[in-house]
Amino acid sequence: MAMSQFKVTKQIEFCYGHRLLNYDGKCKHLHGHNGLLEIDVAAGSLDARGMVADFGDIKDVVKEWVDTNMDHQMILSKDDPILNLLLDLNEPVYVMDENPTAENIAKRIHEEAQNAGLDIMETRLWETPSSYASYTSSESGS
Ligand SMILES: [Zn+2]
Repeated sequence: MAMSQFKVTKQIEFCYGHRLLNYDGKCKHLHGHNGLLEIDVAAGSLDARGMVADFGDIKDVVKEWVDTNMDHQMILSKDDPILNLLLDLNEPVYVMDENPTAENIAKRIHEEAQNAGLDIMETRLWETPSSYASYTSSESGS
């Protein structure tokens, strides 16, 4: 049974570099993306303002974390052999336990935003204008 609900979506842009391990394709080598995040917040009813959530609040939470941690960083797996070289050279790196795919990056941002108190339903990361990965909370909306 699907219940009626409202949903708002905030877009946030950021730039990142990465490369994928155990993968044959363009993302095998170091390169960058102009990523576009879409953050969905949903609710069955609106607050006193008539809102699901304030767009500015979503932006503040997510953009601050992304700007601090991932924007203009090389996002790499902890198992990437180039990691120590970049760290030695003081290059900005964000290290993940998993392969830094769009799926895993979306999941990390989703979880960090939730830890910061944002009750978000889904996070989508557009890696290119035609390709996105999404991560959805098992329990969402309120
Ligand atoms: Zn890539």
